[in-house]
Amino acid sequence: MQKSSGDEAQQIKAFSQADIQEVYQQLGTSAQGLTSAEAKKREEKYGENVIQKKKQEPLILRFLKNFTSLMAILLWVGGAVAMFAGMMTMGIAIWLVNIINGIFSFWQEFQATKATDALSKMLPSYVRAMRDGKQQQILAQDVVPGDVIAFEEGDNVAADMRLISSTDLKADQAALTGESNPIAKSLKVDANTKGRYDENNILYAGTSISTGSGTGVVLSTGMNTEFGHIAQLTQSVKPKPSPLEKELDVLTRQISLLAITMGVLFFVAAIFIVHYPWAQAFIFALGMVVAFIPEGLLPTVTLSLAAATNRMAKKHALVKQLSSVETLGSTNVICSDKTGTLTQNQMTVQQLWLPKESLTVTGLGYSPDGQVQADGKQVEAKNDSDLNTLLTGAALDSNARVVAPTEKNPKYTVLGDPTEACLGVAAQKSGINLDDLHKQLPRVKEIPFDSDRKRMTTIQKVSDTERVAYIKGAPSEVLAVSTAYLKDGQVQPLSDELKNKIMAQNDSFAKEGLRVLGVGYRDIVKGKTDLPDSLDDYSIDNVEQQMVFVGLIAMSDPPRPEVAQAIKECHEASIKVIMVTGDYGLTAESISRKIGIIGPDEDCEVVTGPQLAKMNDKELKDALRGPIIFARMAPEQKYRIVNALQEMGNIVAVTGDGVNDAPALKKADIGIAMGKNGTDVAKEAANMILTDDNFASIVSAIEEGRTVYSNIQKFLLYILNSNAPEAAPSIAFLFSNGLIPLPLTVMQILSVDLGTDMLPALGLGTEQTEPGTMQKPPRSQKDHLISKGLVAKAFGWYGLVASLISLGAYFFVNHVRGGWPNVALAASGTPIYREATTMTLAAIVFCQIAAAINCRTKKISVFKIGLFSNKRVWEGIIFEICLIIALIYIPFLQGIFNTAPLQWNEWLFLICIPIPLVLIEELRKYFVRRHDARKKAEAIANKAA
Ligand code: ATP
Repeated sequence: MQKSSGDEAQQIKAFSQADIQEVYQQLGTSAQGLTSAEAKKREEKYGENVIQKKKQEPLILRFLKNFTSLMAILLWVGGAVAMFAGMMTMGIAIWLVNIINGIFSFWQEFQATKATDALSKMLPSYVRAMRDGKQQQILAQDVVPGDVIAFEEGDNVAADMRLISSTDLKADQAALTGESNPIAKSLKVDANTKGRYDENNILYAGTSISTGSGTGVVLSTGMNTEFGHIAQLTQSVKPKPSPLEKELDVLTRQISLLAITMGVLFFVAAIFIVHYPWAQAFIFALGMVVAFIPEGLLPTVTLSLAAATNRMAKKHALVKQLSSVETLGSTNVICSDKTGTLTQNQMTVQQLWLPKESLTVTGLGYSPDGQVQADGKQVEAKNDSDLNTLLTGAALDSNARVVAPTEKNPKYTVLGDPTEACLGVAAQKSGINLDDLHKQLPRVKEIPFDSDRKRMTTIQKVSDTERVAYIKGAPSEVLAVSTAYLKDGQVQPLSDELKNKIMAQNDSFAKEGLRVLGVGYRDIVKGKTDLPDSLDDYSIDNVEQQMVFVGLIAMSDPPRPEVAQAIKECHEASIKVIMVTGDYGLTAESISRKIGIIGPDEDCEVVTGPQLAKMNDKELKDALRGPIIFARMAPEQKYRIVNALQEMGNIVAVTGDGVNDAPALKKADIGIAMGKNGTDVAKEAANMILTDDNFASIVSAIEEGRTVYSNIQKFLLYILNSNAPEAAPSIAFLFSNGLIPLPLTVMQILSVDLGTDMLPALGLGTEQTEPGTMQKPPRSQKDHLISKGLVAKAFGWYGLVASLISLGAYFFVNHVRGGWPNVALAASGTPIYREATTMTLAAIVFCQIAAAINCRTKKISVFKIGLFSNKRVWEGIIFEICLIIALIYIPFLQGIFNTAPLQWNEWLFLICIPIPLVLIEELRKYFVRRHDARKKAEAIANKAA
C-alpha cells in the first residue's frame, strides 16, 4: 500500500538523522548492495521503480473531441438543417460522413500517440548499482530499496537515497522545489533541517546531479518517493506549440474563413439569383464550405510526422516531439561539438613528451598490445622514472576501465570516458600493472573533471602521513597551476621559457589533429604541506596549485568515416556547420580541415573561449558570417553563440552532452543530445537524441524533416486541386441563372471531399524523400505551407484543367443523350441529368487520380522515382476507384448520391483522362528541370568568370 506523503517525509527525515549502519540494518543491506536474487524479491514486493503516468484523458473523451471541431459542428448543423427541411437522406448522409471522418481522425491520432510512446520506450535509462558485490549497469526501473548506487555529474537521481559517499556534490532540485540553484549535498547529519527536501545527506528521485559524484543507498522507489507523491498531485504541463503547429492553426483558420465566406456568398446567390428556399440554399452553400475545408489536413500532418519519426529512429535519431521533425527541415546552422560526434571517440595514445625526451607509443585501440619506444627501442616505465610518473599519474587520475574481450563480446570495450581509458592502456604498454598500481596507491579523493576547468585531480594514499595529488587536463590549464617541472627525477622551477617550449610542443601535436593532455603531480605530506587535515576540506583551490609538471600525452581520435560525406551534404544543402569544441584550437582546426568543414586553403577564424568572452555581440555576429571555429569553449558560451545565430535569423541545431550544455540545448531550435555519452540532464533538455552520437545521423534527420514539409505541401496541393472542379459546377449553375442544372450535387461534393480524396491524400503524406532534397537551401522562415505558387498550381493549372474536363464531361453526356445545346432537357431529376452529374463526379475523381500521381514529385519525373513506389498512394487510388464504382452501381447509394450507371464509352473516356494529364505534367516538370539546369550552369559559369 502506498504511504501518505506526510509519512514519507517523516521516514526520510528519520533516515537522514540515523547512523549509516543503522540505515543499512533497517533496509536489510550493506555497502556491498544486494544480491540479484534479493533484488528480484524486493521488486516483486515494491514493484518497478517508475512514476506512473498521470491518468490520460479517458479514451472516450479523446474520441469525442474529434466530433467538435469547427468543421464537424458545421456538418452536424448542416445535417440537422437538411433533416428539418425534409431532406432526410441527405441529413443522415452528412452525419454519417461526419462520423466516419471523426473515427478516421481518432485513429490517426491514436497511431501517432502509439508511435511516440514506442519512441520513449527506446530511451531506457540506466544506473550503476552494486549487485552481487560488483558494480553493474542496470535499468533504472529495476532499482529497489536497499540498492547501492553510484552517480556522477549529469545523472538523474533514480530513487530517494541516503548518501554513503560524496565528492563536491551538488544536486538540482528544481523538479521538487522550483529552486534552480544547485543545492550542496554532503554526508553531514544535520539535526536542524529547516523544511522539506532540506536534508543535505538525502538525494531525491526526479532531481539530477549538477556537479560532483558519490554513492547512495536507496530508501524508496517509484510512487513511494517524494517525487512520486508530487507527480500524483501536479498537472502535466502542456507543451508549447511548435512553429508548424502555429502555422497549421493559422492555415486552418484562414481556410475555414475562406470556406465560410464562399458559403455565405453562395447562400446569398442561391437565394437571390435562383430563388432557392433558404433551407435548400443553406445545403447548397454547405457544399461549398465542405469543398473548401481541407478535412484531412491535421491527420495527414500527424501521420507524416509520425512516419518520419519512425524512419528517423531507424537512422539513430530519436525525436521527442513530433513537431521537431519539421523544425529540423528548416535548420540552416548546425553547431556541433567535436569529440565523439565528428570523431570516433576511439582514443589511442600515440606520442609522449617529457622535458628530457619524446616517445612514441605503438598499437591501436584499447588492446594493451604495443610498446612505448624511444627512437624505435622499447622503453619500460620501471627503467625511466619520469615516464613512470607520467603514466602512473595519468592512469590513476582516471575513472574509466577497459573490459577485455569475452566470448559474448569479442572486442575490448570501454566503461567510462575513452580519453581516460586510453591512458591506462598506454601505462600497460609501458609495463605498468594497473591492478597493482591501484592497490599500491589507493584513491582517497577525486576532484572531478569539468569542462570549465578542463582539468581533473585525484589524491592517492602513499602512507598514513603522505598523499600524492595527480592532475591531468588541457596542457595550458595544467601549466597554469604548475610552478615546477620534473626532469630525470628532479623537481626544478618552471620558467616561462620552458612553458613556451611546452606549449610549442603542444601546438605541434595539435596541428596533426592530436588531442593533448598535460600531466602533473603534487606531494602532500602531513605537517609539511599547507593543506587542511580533513580530506573533506580539500577543495579545488587548495589542491590544484604548486603542481609539478611532468609531460604531455598526445592521442589520436580519428574522424568518423561517414562525417566527411555528411558535411559535404550539409554544404550542398546550404547548411552551415560550426564546430564548437572544448578542445584546443589547432586540434579543432586540423580536424575541421580533415572532414571538410573548412576547405583546404580556406581562411578561417578560430575563436577561443577567452577571446569570445571579450567580444561584444556585434563582433560575434560579424565573425559568425564567415568560416569560424570555436575552440576551448566553456559549455555556457555555447548559449551565447546559439543566441547570436538566432538573432541573425537562423534556425539552429546544437549538439551537447554535459550538464552545462543544457541551457544551449534548450535555447536551440533543435537541441541534440548524445545517446551514448550524453548525461541524463542533456538528454532531457534536448529535442532529439542521437543513439549513435554520430553527426551523420543529424544530416539524415534534416533530410527527413525537409521531406515531411514537402509532403504536407504535396498533400495540400492535391486536396486543393479538387476545390476548383467542385466549385465550378455551382458557379456555372448560378451564373447561368439556373439555366444549366447543377452539374454536381452537394452530396456528390461530399463524396469527393470526404470519400474518394481522403486515402490518396494520406498516401502523399508518406512519400519518400525526393532526390535532390538536400541539394537545395532550407526553406526560408518567411515561406508558408500555402505559397502563391501552390495556390496558382492548384487553382490555375490542375484545378482549371479538372474543371474544364469535368464540366466537359457533363455537357458531353447532355449532348450525346439529350442533344446539344439543349441542356435544359436534362432538368434535375431526369435520368439524363443523373447520368450527366455522375459523369461530372467521375471525371473529377479521375482527374484526381492523375493529380495524386502528379503531386508525388515537384520537379523530378514520377517515372524516375518509380510510378508504383508509394504503395499507399496506389492503395488510395484503388480505394477511390472502388468507391466511385460503388456510388454509381449500388442502388442504395445511387439513391443517396443521385447517381446513375454509365455507358461503356463514358467509362472509356474516364479511364483515358489521367493519361494526358500525367504526360502533360511530366512535360512541364521536364521544362522546369531544364530551366533549373540552365540557371545552375549559368551560375557556375558566372562564378568561374
Ligand atoms: P568536444 O567539446 O568537442 O566534445 P572535448 O571533449 O575536447 O571536445 P571537453 O570535454 O570540454 O571537450 O574537454 C575540454 C578539454 O579538457 C579537452 O580538450 C582536454 O584537454 C581536457 N579533458 C577532456 N577530458 C578530460 C579528462 N577526463 N580529464 C582531464 N582533462 C580532460
